[in-house]
Amino acid sequence: MLEKIIYVAGYGRSGSTLLDMMLGSDPRIFGAGEMSTICRHVWPNDEFCACHARVRACPLWSGIMAEWLASSVDPAAHAKLQQKIEPVFAPARSLGGATARRYGEETLALLRITAAHAGRPVLLDSSKSPGRGLALAAAAQAAGVDFRVLHLVRDPRAVAYSMSKPMKIDTEAGVQKRIRAHPAWRTALRWNYVNAGADALMRRLPDGHGLRLRYEDLVSQPEAVLNNVGIAVGQQLGTIAEAIAEGAQIAASHQVAGSRIRMSGPMALRPDLNWQDRMAPAARAQVERISGGRMRRYGYD
Ligand SMILES: [Zn+2]
Repeated sequence: MLEKIIYVAGYGRSGSTLLDMMLGSDPRIFGAGEMSTICRHVWPNDEFCACHARVRACPLWSGIMAEWLASSVDPAAHAKLQQKIEPVFAPARSLGGATARRYGEETLALLRITAAHAGRPVLLDSSKSPGRGLALAAAAQAAGVDFRVLHLVRDPRAVAYSMSKPMKIDTEAGVQKRIRAHPAWRTALRWNYVNAGADALMRRLPDGHGLRLRYEDLVSQPEAVLNNVGIAVGQQLGTIAEAIAEGAQIAASHQVAGSRIRMSGPMALRPDLNWQDRMAPAARAQVERISGGRMRRYGYD
């Protein structure tokens, strides 16, 4: 049933939940949200699914997890495996070996069960972490599953502005833990590091199996960008591309974790470019100094 995995890689606050919701509106694609969070906190804390049920009461995820856990997977043990395998720098992943194999088998089993329960052959995992992407690429290749990557980037000044604002816990609105304000220099350094990891993931793929796209282009020219995405992931996306470009509402389904927009009901596409007027000049200069090289590579002035 699981024919293909589409993995969204990149740094936080880059629009991955929006992209997940857009692609999940195609009837062959299941937008699963950030699947790496299931064992780490969503299932143990019984957090909210995008359908507004708690995940253990969600008709979809309760069935998926019942089947997966029945195959003698332990969520806490799986979360420990993730800690060893999913960081950008992860010797246990690079070396292969028993830990990496077990991680690959368990994760792929979860993705297969998810696609089967969702009744869709293409599974989209927007976990973002490049390390998870590298591990999934290896596991998918070993199992003969088609694996595609969308590397989503956003102007680091916008990301740093977004991360400079703290958020209070509001589980029902999709904020599962208190989010501290982060200084611009920290965000800029981490943006460099994580995107370098995503670039490494892209280099590992066969030609034509990955695409780097920019948030700013996705929201300003959705039809053109989604058509390019369709080519890279080998799916016909013309119908949803046209509908979204014409202002169709974008709705969440059962995304686990991700940004608040998955909880806020169907919405039209609207670019978030607030930072351009509101970001402090000093913070902006910090980001440009630290991330300038990579910004230019991705086509930001
Ligand atoms: Zn749900």
